[in-house]
Amino acid sequence: GEFTTEVDTVVVGAGPGGYVAAIRAAQLGQKVIIIEKGELGGVCLNVGCIPSKALISASHRYEHAQDSDDMGISTEKVTLDFAKLQDWKGSVVNKLTGGVEGLLKANKVEIVKGEALFVEKDEVRVNSGYESTRYKFNNCIIATGSSPIELPTFKWSDRVISSTGALALKEAPKKMVVIGGGYIGVELGSAYAGFGTEVVILEGSKSILPGFEKKMSAIVKKRLKKKGVVMHTEAMAQGVEETKDGVKVKAEIKGKEETFEADYVLVTVGRRPNTEELGLDMAGIETTDRGLIKVDKQCKTNVDGIYAIGDIVAGPALAHKASYEGKVAAETISGEHAEVDYLAMPAVVFSDPELASVGLTESEAKEQGYDVKVAQFPFAASGRALSLNDTDGFMKLVTRKEDGLVIGAQIAGTGASDMISELGLAIEAGMTAEDIALTIHAHPTLGEIAMETAEVALGMPIHIA
Ligand code: FAD
Repeated sequence: GEFTTEVDTVVVGAGPGGYVAAIRAAQLGQKVIIIEKGELGGVCLNVGCIPSKALISASHRYEHAQDSDDMGISTEKVTLDFAKLQDWKGSVVNKLTGGVEGLLKANKVEIVKGEALFVEKDEVRVNSGYESTRYKFNNCIIATGSSPIELPTFKWSDRVISSTGALALKEAPKKMVVIGGGYIGVELGSAYAGFGTEVVILEGSKSILPGFEKKMSAIVKKRLKKKGVVMHTEAMAQGVEETKDGVKVKAEIKGKEETFEADYVLVTVGRRPNTEELGLDMAGIETTDRGLIKVDKQCKTNVDGIYAIGDIVAGPALAHKASYEGKVAAETISGEHAEVDYLAMPAVVFSDPELASVGLTESEAKEQGYDVKVAQFPFAASGRALSLNDTDGFMKLVTRKEDGLVIGAQIAGTGASDMISELGLAIEAGMTAEDIALTIHAHPTLGEIAMETAEVALGMPIHIA
């Protein structure tokens, strides 16, 4: 016989969507259980955001250690112990996943290990080994995340790897082919190039990072080239042949067939939602033809009491989006008034240099009928960027012409990932370019670039003529 427990709220999946939702629901008085079949922290903490950023920062340090001649620093024989780097990366991940466990417990969220499956519209079954338990709920938040898409012509193996495999390599390969020039391919390709790997990126569309403005991706392209990364656009990867100790990747590039030999081929062509093996039918939960769960502005599905958040619903597959939606769902369940508003949702690429965007781009604003005023300021005019010896890039501020309301911002340049928050706040708080210009920014900081760009918008910049 199966044992049934009754709870207020069941959260399925403990990634940045699920664990945040569970904590918030518990803070608001719900009795919560969270079910996780893998590791606490989900993709983000274990095989996504955190380990990739750890490798990227190590790659920067390794590169800088060898390339600071301009500053009069020369080093002899910089070495890389990749196994030790992986140990360190693992320790960062463990600290954070351990932290999530501690936070869940401190908030009295019960952690249940196992795979959840809907059996009714108010009940899930959890399979763990030979045991299974049923949980009857008033509310459920589904946060099962996504998995890398496997191409039929590139079946996963020891040599044909996803981002997960690329983060776990035992050594920096001599050669790597990356299929897909989106943010994950660029971030990982660039990190390995910094470690000395010869990287070839094959991108199907006309440009790498196709979601970003050309002027921004061009800056990243320039740096990638400097690192020795070869980029082919309009390149259709066709298949792979595994050799004794590597791969041969066939691709059609602008109509011409080419073969690339490498130690590994990393396939980063997108992710698919983990919604197939959840028993959604048993609860009557509707999905789109891409397998995304349909939700409204409160993250409610078509079934009463069931919510869905994160990578399994529409929108950008980003950790902070998952967490944000998790809070909205938890607050709604707890009787608060909450609703998603994606206007100030940032997106960051941890490339070299970083790209970041929030709100509307110039062309999106125009499409939406805004009469816009666009201001730009180059990093090369920032004292801080100069003192960091990293002056490639610019900030762009998109404002509404009539009153200077900030409706979007894009940054290409070092520190962009941290700088974008100020512009997100400006949008969220309904600030104008004048508000930013009137805010005293510490000198010398990259943050001043926001003030300077706002002054450009007002037609009175101090540091560019
Ligand atoms: P996930 O993190 O995928 O978590 C879902 C959890 O549900 C998993 O732990 C899974 O085991 C569990 N689960 C699934 N099915 C069941 C079931 N039936 N029963 C029980 N448990 C189940 N985003 C950023 O914002 N910034 C970044 O820098 C960034 N870098 C990334 C780098 C890489 C290499 C990758 C792959 C992703 C990156 N992302 C980044 C994306 C980010 O990781 C995801 O958007 C985020 O993890 C989604 O959170 P989630 O809670 O929806 O799902």
